[in-house]
Amino acid sequence: MAKKQFKAESKRLLEMMINSIYTQREIFLRELISNASDAVDKIYYRALTDEQLVFNKEDYYIKVTADKANRTLTISDTGIGMTKEDLENNLGIIAKSGSLAFKKENEAQDGHNIIGQFGVGFYSAFMVADVVTVTSRAVGSEEAYKWESTGAEGYTIEAAEKATVGTEIVLKIKPNTEDDQYDEFLEQYRLKAIIKKYSDFIRYPIKMDISGSRPKEGEDNEFEEYVEEQTVNSMVPIWRKNKSELTDADYENFYAEKRYGFDKPLKHIHLSVDGAVRYQAILYIPESTPFDYYTKEFEKGLELYSNGVLIMDKCADLLPDYFGFVKGMVDSEDLSLNISREMLQHDRQLKQIAKNIQSKIKSQLQSLLKDEREKYEKFYESFGRQLKFGVYNDYGMHKDVLQDLLMFYSSKEKKVVTLDEYVSRMTEEQKYIYYATGESKERIEKLPQTELVADKGFEILYLTDDIDEFAIKIISSYKDKEFKSVSSGDLGIEADEKDKETEAEANESKELFEAMKAFLGDKVKSVRASKRLKSHPVCLTTEGELTIEMEKILNAMPN
Ligand code: ADP
Ligand code: MG
Repeated sequence: MAKKQFKAESKRLLEMMINSIYTQREIFLRELISNASDAVDKIYYRALTDEQLVFNKEDYYIKVTADKANRTLTISDTGIGMTKEDLENNLGIIAKSGSLAFKKENEAQDGHNIIGQFGVGFYSAFMVADVVTVTSRAVGSEEAYKWESTGAEGYTIEAAEKATVGTEIVLKIKPNTEDDQYDEFLEQYRLKAIIKKYSDFIRYPIKMDISGSRPKEGEDNEFEEYVEEQTVNSMVPIWRKNKSELTDADYENFYAEKRYGFDKPLKHIHLSVDGAVRYQAILYIPESTPFDYYTKEFEKGLELYSNGVLIMDKCADLLPDYFGFVKGMVDSEDLSLNISREMLQHDRQLKQIAKNIQSKIKSQLQSLLKDEREKYEKFYESFGRQLKFGVYNDYGMHKDVLQDLLMFYSSKEKKVVTLDEYVSRMTEEQKYIYYATGESKERIEKLPQTELVADKGFEILYLTDDIDEFAIKIISSYKDKEFKSVSSGDLGIEADEKDKETEAEANESKELFEAMKAFLGDKVKSVRASKRLKSHPVCLTTEGELTIEMEKILNAMPN
């Protein structure tokens, strides 16, 4: 039986597409510029094999011009151009991508950066324009053609004049309505900002006529208006450059330019990975916490680029929560994008990248700790709390990744130390890693419970952050040494002669203790003689898992 072809209500399809694929209207400019870049790329690749074509880099560019009076926005390129058939096929058939075909034909050629693949981006122009006019002259042709459409109603093609090879797309920008504003797409500064945001790293110059006023030469207090053609994109992404070409200042500038933070980053990581999934990344460890860091408003994530074109502002899946403070970007040519190119189709590649990045961050932090202690302590002051939450969250799943990065104040060293440093100082006699909890160092120092341990000459870690003890409990032991709160009943310290004395005294005072317990009632479990007191008359201790501090926190937590 003869198969029938599906037909589509193309008018409806186009409408649906124009209005439902993209979340933001400004994307149209990214799409048209991407097409222009592809067109220039194609002529470049053609020139590689065609001796008659010479590719002079200066001759190839994209230009964006706004004309407020006529409400037109023009995007022109000096790329490969389109023949009449190309116009019919590529702009007349929805979801037909000449660029994808080109990519497939030229697969053997390495390093192409063709962006297009879905054959729908062009139509995004109708989100902002009533009429779209494309005038194009293909390379090697004397003829030019004009394609014009108002969107759903179809299109016309007719012969036209065009002096040079390339394509010019004119959008008649829609008038403002009560609900929708379109004027912004005729504003120089706005267009420039959109180009910077999405297309900064397109490899060919994107030019605009930028107007301004400047002091008139030779005359005081007089200004003149001027118009100057400027290239608004940076073109060469810093992440594609060789590390050896870049200085710390270059990375710091990029951090500031991208507004990753207002501080100066403590450290950067520049990755260029050529494995199963190819990607480049520049990551930063910031110095200070953003003001909203420890709130629900904070959104972690890295910028995600595909072939130099911005796909996502904040791709959360690239970072585990506990490294949520990391800023930066990832660019990969191996991502499967969804049709709007605003999201990803499969996250297999992304997962691979995320895994990779996570281990790079960890090793960077470790080397910071090892080689640049001061910087690490600064980092830890800002984000240590995050690491401790990371240990505690997800039932301690990530404790192995994180425990080496933790630091606590030490009674002996009088500064923060790592668990590794603590354990390496333990004598044979010492069985546990001792810690004390309290609001502040000063408070802890006054705790009667610390006396016996300190007297023994053992180091005590001071846990002053409310998350500390939760993290410690999850870790439970480090290098086979268990943690022990100084206020727990059994301190694991060898009994000495003093014990016998205490026992005798305890018997003598049995009645007193019973009276005290009766008086305190449910507030305490029992009143006993203590072996650990020196200069204090009494202290509180706990039995079981929770310490007094943890109980306080749990009681204060909203359910
Ligand atoms: P995609 O870029 O995903 O292929 P588009 O809808 O953006 O889809 O464009 C469809 C096709 O139209 C492109 O693949 C390309 O062949 C052609 N095209 C669009 N813009 C231009 C241009 N400025 N110069 C040459 N060809 C173009
Ligand atoms: Mg496109």
